[in-house]
Amino acid sequence: MSRSKQSPSIGVDDLVGHLRDLASNLWWAWNEEGWSVFQSLDPNEWRATNYSPLGTLERTSHARLEVLACDPIFVKRVYDGLAARAAYLGERAWFQRGATAKQEGFRVAYFCSEYGLHESIQQYAGGLGILAGDHLKSASDLGIPLVAIGLAYRHGYYIQQLSRDGSTQVLYPEYDFNRWGLEDTHRTIACPIGSRLVTARIWRMWVGRVPLYLLDTDLKANAPEDRRLTEGLYKGEPLLRLRQQILLGVGGVLALKALGERVSVLHLNEGHAAFAAVQRALDVHSPGQPIQDSFDAVRRATVFTTHTPVSAGHDRYNSEMVVQELSGVMARSGLTPMQIADLGRIKAGDIKETFCMTVLALRLAERVNGVSKLHGEVSREMWKEFYGVPAAKVPIGSITNGVHVKTWIDPDAERFWKDEIALRLTKQAPTATGWRHAEDVSPTKFWALRSRLRHRMVHFVRDRLAIQCKRRGEGQGAVAETYSLLDEDVLTIGFARRFATYKRAPLVFHDADRLARILTNTDRPVQIIFAGKAHPRDEDGQVFVRQIFELTRDARFGGRVALIEEYDMHVGRMLVAGCDVWLNTPIRPYEASGTSGMKPTLHGGLNLSILDGWWPEASDGINGWNIGGTETFADTKLQDASDAANLYRLLEESVVPQFYEQDAAGIPHGWIARALHSAATVPPVFNSHRMVAEYTRKAYVPAHQIRGS
Ligand SMILES: *Cc1c(COP(=O)(O)O)cnc(C)c1O
Repeated sequence: MSRSKQSPSIGVDDLVGHLRDLASNLWWAWNEEGWSVFQSLDPNEWRATNYSPLGTLERTSHARLEVLACDPIFVKRVYDGLAARAAYLGERAWFQRGATAKQEGFRVAYFCSEYGLHESIQQYAGGLGILAGDHLKSASDLGIPLVAIGLAYRHGYYIQQLSRDGSTQVLYPEYDFNRWGLEDTHRTIACPIGSRLVTARIWRMWVGRVPLYLLDTDLKANAPEDRRLTEGLYKGEPLLRLRQQILLGVGGVLALKALGERVSVLHLNEGHAAFAAVQRALDVHSPGQPIQDSFDAVRRATVFTTHTPVSAGHDRYNSEMVVQELSGVMARSGLTPMQIADLGRIKAGDIKETFCMTVLALRLAERVNGVSKLHGEVSREMWKEFYGVPAAKVPIGSITNGVHVKTWIDPDAERFWKDEIALRLTKQAPTATGWRHAEDVSPTKFWALRSRLRHRMVHFVRDRLAIQCKRRGEGQGAVAETYSLLDEDVLTIGFARRFATYKRAPLVFHDADRLARILTNTDRPVQIIFAGKAHPRDEDGQVFVRQIFELTRDARFGGRVALIEEYDMHVGRMLVAGCDVWLNTPIRPYEASGTSGMKPTLHGGLNLSILDGWWPEASDGINGWNIGGTETFADTKLQDASDAANLYRLLEESVVPQFYEQDAAGIPHGWIARALHSAATVPPVFNSHRMVAEYTRKAYVPAHQIRGS
């Protein structure tokens, strides 16, 4: 876009062309110069389409576009957005500036079953997808040569609506991939599943510099049951799930070949994609050679990240079913059915042992890591039998998760840190030392920021509650009442996460009367905002949702508990900005890492958490609170009682008093010191730039270097 070509007004067709161009790379999603252009098209449609650029553009009237095309300020913003993106894409980033950049042919293929990139692109269920999305954005920012593979789900995960009794309604909208800016590569692959070939179209989504390829089997050429392979995320029976995983792994490798994308390192993000390593081995295999040599070669260049500290959480399949479904893939491998089944077993020939995707991944990856130090330890213990060595010798390390700061920080907060401590987030480097100066800011100005963020969130939550209430047909009175719920200046606790049962959403209600006394104290009130979805088949998780729903209406709490439907990246972003305290109550050590608690700290929020996942690495006694220690009870009832008692004690004796210990001007200096310490200590470490740089240094580059030896 040369500056001389800029004119104060342009034709509508040109404007639309430029806007489509700006929407064609997800760069807009984490750069305000990108997304804010679409917001300005029509703020109401922007909200109504769940913040979709192309959705908003489609719904903007021709008359409005004509006005904008003649508005030099708007036209300049569009050009500036495109120019900023071009500068970003052309920049020599961290990786190119470093010594490791000279690796010949270095390129990583990143495989994951879900990607959480933006709320308008509903292709994620929870933390795994969010982490993968953040990984791609940081890989792009840092200039890591990386290409990503996934599936394009026509129905996404699901949309959650609650009925009048709090039961979950599962909605499956039909998404239009063109609306997401997906490009059709006009390439297809034929993926062997069982003894047939399933055709998949390959879509491309640009995530900054990183291409994300998504496979889609919803094509006329396929049998109806195969068309449904990419219908939804984590939907259906084991057989469907297994076939999806063959498509992801095997189909993904075939897609890279069809596209001419040469990669040197394979990263399996969770075991779902482990068949990719099998297909890579078959590709390098020549008949007559032992297949084990091919497995060894692939193994050297494969990185595997495990995310599951619970034994039951690992995908396991009936071995015969796996052998059957892999028959086409394995046709020329020379392996017997027993040898194929053994790939997913700890003990060769043990026909009672099911086929485990994690075991397959451990077998085919040299570099294996958990997602926090604690999870690394748990994983070493869990897989010692596979390696046949004591836990301390198990070769599983850890790379702690992080969040993509530009995605999760509120623009108001970003401006605040920029003005106060000259924090520059666009600087594309893994070190974020600027945060260390957070403690130097003016407490008064910081408190004003906190108040703005909390106020805005309370209004957002009230709006959502009113919409929910209307939809349930609850009548004018009830709808009007939602606008008086919650308080803008009250200590606000957030709990937003998947409603998997181990996360124990209802724990804070363990002693409901004691909680009621905390929430409704007239001088020092507290409010709690919940959001979260349970998997459609997780009945116990759905019960938790209903319990919380009922508790929001329990008179004892005086309207100080709210539950908003359809937790997604937008709801998440609002809550992590506005909440003063982020509550995390998993059963230790079931939370492999967790990442949501890293997000409030970008806004000076404080964690109140069980010592699980990433938190033990971050907690220093000032930047948040630990609920209990590391003691674990075999009896879950005792564990709940102990954890709940510790939680109440902290709330009563520390959290609430410190928030309300304010000076004459209403400034809580003790609280602010903690909050600023949280911002100074957590974001510099628990961000995805640091994480991706660590993967690059500890895993990708070593795997690339050793692969030929
Ligand atoms: C950050 C985030 C997650 C991950 O949160 P956990 O604490 O790891 O459960 C899940 N879903 C959404 C929408 C998020 O923003």
